[in-house]
Amino acid sequence: MKTREDIRNIAIIAHVDHGKTTLVNELLKQSDTLDEHINLEDRAMDTNPIERERGITILSKVTAVDYKDHKINILDTPGHADFGGEVERIMRMVDGVLLVVDAFEGTMPQTRFVLKKAMEQHLTPIVVINKIDRPGARPAEVVDEVLELFIELGADEDQLDFPVVYTSAVNGTSSMDPEVDTQTHTMDPVFDTILDTIPAPVDNSDEPLQFQVAMLDYNDYVGRIGIGRVFRGKIKIGDSVSVLKLDGTAKNYRVTKLFGFFGLKRIEVNEAKAGDLIAVSGMEDIFVGETVTPTDQQDRLPVLRIDAPTLQMT
Ligand code: GDP
Repeated sequence: MKTREDIRNIAIIAHVDHGKTTLVNELLKQSDTLDEHINLEDRAMDTNPIERERGITILSKVTAVDYKDHKINILDTPGHADFGGEVERIMRMVDGVLLVVDAFEGTMPQTRFVLKKAMEQHLTPIVVINKIDRPGARPAEVVDEVLELFIELGADEDQLDFPVVYTSAVNGTSSMDPEVDTQTHTMDPVFDTILDTIPAPVDNSDEPLQFQVAMLDYNDYVGRIGIGRVFRGKIKIGDSVSVLKLDGTAKNYRVTKLFGFFGLKRIEVNEAKAGDLIAVSGMEDIFVGETVTPTDQQDRLPVLRIDAPTLQMT
């Protein structure tokens, strides 16, 4: 089986305030992600004004970091409540999770909730015990709590064998051993554990395209944006594709805009293939759960036209 060794797709999950945001920012800072990519202003896709207007974070759903010639796509998950299955949809796009747990607080209700979802999707877990700098931090006990939670949630043997990385995200330090090297400013143990443990996506880019929309976004310049993972095949600018709608109809489009993720930005790309996370615009009524395939696949589908469902922002 061919795999995309150059990519890892992971979700970061945690109870609120356990340090997800701080950790992702630190990973980005310490990665090899080219500054020119991060600073590359793509005005058409600059979501900052919208983000400000809405007062919510839509910018960092995917943070793409480069490390040792690999691209690690890190998907954020809601830390408080599950909005209409968003956590599940995000987890369908990834092959593993970083479970972040506060070294002082230990496992909390949301830790259980998100871990349960990850177990259900059979994702490969990495446990990150964060805030080991906190006075009263009790990393060994917290690892035991996490292990108990895994057992309670019915983890299989491979999942129970999770690696543990100890971090102080605020200080930018991490280590495989809470007693050793916790002062060294490095996130390499986190990066290396991701590359070593999380499965690389399957590379079946020779097969017909299958791109599934898992999240929607919106931008005044390009309109509706579908974000998701290419599960099979390739998609490129100029391709004729069909969107298989949830109502059983299909709608044809030509691919006019494709975006890949670089740092916190989305940049236009000409092509993407199996394993890549991408954003597409120009398919104006595309919806979560819909699949994009080559046009010729669509002939076999019954054509019945009913109104498109109303837009629900995710
Ligand atoms: P999130 O809700 O999981 O995204 O958590 P944040 O990253 O926003 O962090 C929540 C709070 O914990 C913030 O005040 C951070 O500064 C703090 N924090 C994050 N990581 C660490 C850490 O390693 N040590 C300490 N002491 N505080 C941290």
